[in-house]
Amino acid sequence: MPTPERNDFIRDIIASDLQTSKFEGRVHTRFPPEPNGYLHIGHAKSIQLNFGIARDHNGLCNLRFDDTNPEKEEQEYVDSIVRDVEWLAGDLKGRIYFASDYFRQMYDWAVTLVREGKAYVCDLNADEIRRTRGTLTEPGKESPYRNRSIDENLDLLDRMRRGEFPDGSKTLRAKIDMASPNINLRDPIMYRIVHEAHHRQGDAWCIYPTYDWAHGLEDSIERITHSICTLEFENHRPLYDWFLDALGIYHPQQIEFARLNLSYTVLSKRKLLQLVQERHVSGWDDPRMPTVAGYRRRGYTAESIRVFCDRIGVSKKDSIIDVATLEWSIREDLNAHARRAMAVLRPLKVVLTNYPEGQTEELPAVNNPEDESAGSRVIPFGRELYIEQDDFREVPPPKYYRLSPGTEVRLRYGYIIKCEKVIKDASGAITELHCTYDPETRSGSPAANRKVKSTIHWVSAKHAVNAEVRLYDRLFMKEDPNDAEEGKDFLSNLNPNSLEVLRYCKLEPMLGSAAPGDRFQFERMGYFCADSADSKPGAPVFNRIVTLKDTWAKIEQKGKPG
Ligand code: ATP
Ligand code: MG
Repeated sequence: MPTPERNDFIRDIIASDLQTSKFEGRVHTRFPPEPNGYLHIGHAKSIQLNFGIARDHNGLCNLRFDDTNPEKEEQEYVDSIVRDVEWLAGDLKGRIYFASDYFRQMYDWAVTLVREGKAYVCDLNADEIRRTRGTLTEPGKESPYRNRSIDENLDLLDRMRRGEFPDGSKTLRAKIDMASPNINLRDPIMYRIVHEAHHRQGDAWCIYPTYDWAHGLEDSIERITHSICTLEFENHRPLYDWFLDALGIYHPQQIEFARLNLSYTVLSKRKLLQLVQERHVSGWDDPRMPTVAGYRRRGYTAESIRVFCDRIGVSKKDSIIDVATLEWSIREDLNAHARRAMAVLRPLKVVLTNYPEGQTEELPAVNNPEDESAGSRVIPFGRELYIEQDDFREVPPPKYYRLSPGTEVRLRYGYIIKCEKVIKDASGAITELHCTYDPETRSGSPAANRKVKSTIHWVSAKHAVNAEVRLYDRLFMKEDPNDAEEGKDFLSNLNPNSLEVLRYCKLEPMLGSAAPGDRFQFERMGYFCADSADSKPGAPVFNRIVTLKDTWAKIEQKGKPG
């Protein structure tokens, strides 16, 4: 597939750097997640941007774990991140790096700064440091420990590293300027004492670098050219530059862009973790989660997510993207590629009283009207069928053109049938319909052109495969899930109907052999994917990926006053 023509301010910067040979004509980006959760659709945007830029310029892109905080990081997250990045960006060919592998080098550089009088050990605790930082309008106060001798600093830093001091009792701080108008430059912390084992380093370290100190060093070590991050780091760039300049080491260019925000969606890792831990969802890969693993399980294609990310582009201004844009991308992809099938989700039995008992026939059906190469298949037809409960009304409302007593509909790929009799049980509930079929009207036959107002889908009862189908909907009811009533939080905006499980669905036989991950359009019902965890050939479980149309747009229209 040809790469679409892309233009954005980041690619413009890179083009101009290539012209001036700023990085000897190299382009080398990185995607630097912290392994403290699963990746979400916002990360997908960053992945598509960083790997896409590298690909477009015959450059390189590293997956680098920013694993500098031992308290929240886990191997499970590392494994899930590798899986998700490879799903979206392709084989990493071993370009997987860990910031923690550079701890020794970072420490040596910290010693260099101490030796040059550019860093000092401070005994203020976190609270005191915060209180003496000043505000946007007032300068900070210098720490009483700021002017320790270089020898004392070297000795204390060494003892910090050896574990002589308790958590929080000392920090290493850069000696920059407590009166700087940029608060990030007011003697920022470089190391904290944290007596905690690291998922890769074990107990080798009890001091851990801060993001600001570590990130530029990681980029420098990997000889990254363009270090692309989100807007909230714009005010940190002077510090990024200060550390690299103070050390006189290779200096990448930091560039900031606006993070992705999606309507009806939370993308804060803390909130996603809360949804998982408090079991509002079944796990990080619950098909309602905005995680890459969730979308994959739901049935989204990697291609549709990449197209979505390209389509929304990058900018310097924060905005909220309508989640319908993402739904549109998957619909568009599946419309072109998903095979069609018939599935009855809420079955109602139909007996064709004039159809010979024991007879079956095979009706030809096209697999994808958008793609001739998808070919065709045959669907068995017989005396007993299932149709959708919704496609029958005993008392039809105005403009209801589907089946009702005495009316006709066409069965997709089959015949025109007429409802003759409604059969009910003792409680008055409808158990089946008795219909007649018109043998002259078989689809494709010369007399098939007789017009009726609607065509419905169906499945032969004798050949149907039983299945469970899970109808997923948006997890949150509010466009901004964080906009909660006073005293409540985002959880109060959870959609109580985000999952409906239908256990008695009837599928056409071909669907019985669907492999986990296979995707189909169930005609008139939406796009569905065989669940990767629970579906088995012979006992399929399908997830609804997306409806055929944007049903929320209608609801919102209706809901609007006036
Ligand atoms: P936190 O740092 O609070 O754990 P984070 O969302 O920043 O959360 P990281 O793992 O640090 O998570 O992010 C990895 C990369 O993904 C960073 O470069 C970050 O800028 C980018 N990223 C994260 N969220 C988004 C988003 N919503 N849109 C675009 N890029 C994002
Ligand atoms: Mg981050």
